[in-house]
Amino acid sequence: MENKFKNPESHMMTHGYKPELSEGAVKCPIFQTSTFVFKTAEEGKSFFEIAYGLREKEPTEELGLIYSRINNPNLEILENRLSLWDKADDCAVFESGMSAISTVLLEFLKPGDLLVYSNPTYGGTDHFINHFLPEIGIHTLGILPNQSIEEVKTEIEKTGHANKLAMIYLETPANPNNALFDMSGLSEQIGKYYEKRNDKQVIVAVDNTYMGPIWQHPLEHGADLTLYSATKYIGGHSDLIAGAVMGRQELMTRVKTLRTFLGNMISPNTAWLLLRSLETLKLRMDKQCDNAQKVAEYLLENDKVEKVYYLGLLHPEEQGYDIYQKQCTGPGAMISFDIVGGEKEAFEFLNALKLIKLAVSLGSTESLVQHPMTMTHAGVDPEHRKKINITEKMIRISVGVENTEDIIKDIKQAFKAVDKKELSHS
Ligand SMILES: *Cc1c(COP(=O)(O)O)cnc(C)c1O
Repeated sequence: MENKFKNPESHMMTHGYKPELSEGAVKCPIFQTSTFVFKTAEEGKSFFEIAYGLREKEPTEELGLIYSRINNPNLEILENRLSLWDKADDCAVFESGMSAISTVLLEFLKPGDLLVYSNPTYGGTDHFINHFLPEIGIHTLGILPNQSIEEVKTEIEKTGHANKLAMIYLETPANPNNALFDMSGLSEQIGKYYEKRNDKQVIVAVDNTYMGPIWQHPLEHGADLTLYSATKYIGGHSDLIAGAVMGRQELMTRVKTLRTFLGNMISPNTAWLLLRSLETLKLRMDKQCDNAQKVAEYLLENDKVEKVYYLGLLHPEEQGYDIYQKQCTGPGAMISFDIVGGEKEAFEFLNALKLIKLAVSLGSTESLVQHPMTMTHAGVDPEHRKKINITEKMIRISVGVENTEDIIKDIKQAFKAVDKKELSHS
């Protein structure tokens, strides 16, 4: 990247692509190929020496193209461009967010290790942590956003596996209530503390899907690895499934090596779609955030709404505000709110929306709405759900790029429809 132009969005159209290697095509073609021709046998030998770690790369040497499970130009260019947003040494792209997450957990956790993870966490991640990891002898401990560092330490000690702490896995802001975890606090006062005490590396991994690569950069706040479901903001058009991991070279080499053997890399075609998405990432996310702020303010004023969970509405005296100021650069485009009433009113509202689509997932150009308690978070332990305010009243909106007035108009008419139903029932 040319150092003069520091903003990643200026590099999303060109970075890492050499037109002269593709007949001068201004856009990177799709390299829909399984294998690559070596110029000579000596070249093939030399590429494999690097791929299998038999010798170190020369300072200017790039990994030669061998086979598309190991490497492919679409993957490589996508990884180079994604790395710019989080100022990461390297990035690895996967066929889904879940494959990115499970590969990281499998690479850095061994039988007997302790994993500390934030609650609530994405349903698929929660299942992998609570149902798969214990089967291979990994101990897990969930922590909550309102717990102090001291309380977390006490909980870790109580597990009896404090000497085997190997990873802190965080999702902040939490889905769906936007509760925050203090990344640098947990990294320094828990991660570094146990690392020193146990003389055992503690990896801090942050699933940054909810903020995308624009509003939060975990690597600058003590995280060793940042993970994404690229299905969400990065893809941004609800037309693909993909994932990404980024961080410093030594860790990324391990992640990429396991990816080679699990074979869960992204396809060239999906990588190409993501290259296209990246060109408008900043534009889309800026607009989504502007829209979300206005929608949240509208909801706050509405008497059908009991409570709004949105980072753009946090007041300086509220819990989480200082953490928000420290680690986020914007409030995002995910809003949850409690509707006055219960499941009946929530469902009437959801069924009455016309422009906003009733579907799970998030971060796309179209606005999406869903009911966490009976949909995305239906599998979460009810006790736990209560603690984090996921009740029958809660509705989650992922705000898209539509005209602001139209989104608000749709919400307004849906509230009216709920009112009408109430009248007809009474
Ligand atoms: C969607 C999502 C995932 C899983 O990603 P897939 O691309 O669906 O595999 C993981 N974490 C978060 C926060 C998500 O929203």
